[in-house]
Amino acid sequence: MNIKSLYVHIPFCEHICGYCDFTKLLYNEEFASKYVEALILEIKSYNIPKMETIYLGGGTPSVLELGNFSQIVDFLGSYLEKNGEFTVEANVENLTKEKLEVLRKAGVNRLSIGIQTTHDEILKTINRHHTFEDAKKVVALAKEYGFTNINVDLIYGLPGQDEKALKEDLKNILSLDTPHISIYSLSVSKGSKFYNEGIKPLSDEKDAYMYDLIVKTLTKADYIHYEVSNFAKDGYESRHNKTYWKDEEYYGCGLGASGYINGVRYTNTKSLTKYLKGEYKDFEEKLTLNEEIEDFLMLNLRLKEGFKVSTFINRFHFDPLEKFKDVLQKQEKEGLISINDSIKPTEKGLKLLDFLLRELFVLL
Ligand code: SF4
Repeated sequence: MNIKSLYVHIPFCEHICGYCDFTKLLYNEEFASKYVEALILEIKSYNIPKMETIYLGGGTPSVLELGNFSQIVDFLGSYLEKNGEFTVEANVENLTKEKLEVLRKAGVNRLSIGIQTTHDEILKTINRHHTFEDAKKVVALAKEYGFTNINVDLIYGLPGQDEKALKEDLKNILSLDTPHISIYSLSVSKGSKFYNEGIKPLSDEKDAYMYDLIVKTLTKADYIHYEVSNFAKDGYESRHNKTYWKDEEYYGCGLGASGYINGVRYTNTKSLTKYLKGEYKDFEEKLTLNEEIEDFLMLNLRLKEGFKVSTFINRFHFDPLEKFKDVLQKQEKEGLISINDSIKPTEKGLKLLDFLLRELFVLL
C-alpha cells in the first residue's frame, strides 16, 4: 500500500495532567536529547519517502528545549512533500516566539494547541499550568507568525465543569476564532491521578446531553461536524487524522507510538531504556479479515462522509450493500445512516455509533 502519513511521538511533559492516559514521561533535558537522537534513527530505519501528512504529537512536543525542538522539526520537514500538511502539537506554556519561528521555517502549517477548558480554576484542578488569558495570547501570537490552520482541544465532563461552565467554555473557545476544534469527553482510566482520587466520568445520559449542546453550538457557528469529535470550518479538516479514520496505513515512530504497515498494526515499546537501545517494537499484529473489516467500519463511520461502497468492494471483494442489506435498510429507516454510492452516518448515527456498529458486526 502507498503510505502517505507519518506520526511521530514526543513523550515528554512538563507536568502530568490528572486525567492523562497517554505515553508520557516527566521532561528531563538529558533524556530528551538522547530520545531525539534515537527517534531520528528509528525514522531513518523505515526508508520513508516524502509524506502527504506529518504529525508531531505527544506528550508535549513543544516542551523540548529549542535545540532539540528544531532538530526534530527540521528533520521531519525534510520528509514533507509539496502541499503536504505538517501538524505540531503544542501546549500554551511553551509555545514561544522562537519555537514558532522554527516551525514556520520547517514548513509546519498546522498547529494543535491544548487548551482543554477556559476556566482557570478547573485548569488548576487538572494540573494545567496556563490560564485562559495565556491561551488567548498564544493563539494570537501563532496567528501573528502566519499560522492560520489552528486546532484547539476542549474537554467536557471535567470536575467542576457544569452546563453553565461548558457554555462559557464554548463561547470563549469560539472567540479564539480557530478553524478547527476537537472535543473529548473526560475519560478516567485506571492508573491516572483522577482514577486514584475516585473522580468519575459523566453518566451516559449527561454525556449525551453535553455532547448535543456542543454539536448544536459549534454547528450554529458554522463549523462542520465532520467526525464524531471534530469540527472544522470548510477546508480545514485534519488531513492527517483522516488517514486514521479512513483506515489507511501510516508510519508511527517514537515511544509507545502505533503504526500500520503492510496490513500489520504495531505498537512501540513504552520503555525508554529499550527505546534508546533501538528496541523499538513491542507488539505486532496481523489482522484477520474480520478484524480488518471491523476496523474499517468502526473508523470510517466516525466520519460524516462515511465511505464509498466502491472503496469497500475494492478492498474486501464483497458488496456491503448485499452482505449487510437488512441491517443497513433498517438503520436507514431509523435515520441513522444514508445510503447512495456512499454509506454515511447521520448526526443521529454519529451519536449512536456504538449501537450502529454492533448491529453490523454480528453479521460478520
Ligand atoms: S494530557 Fe497531554 S500534556 Fe497532560 S500529561 Fe498527558 S500528554 Fe502530557
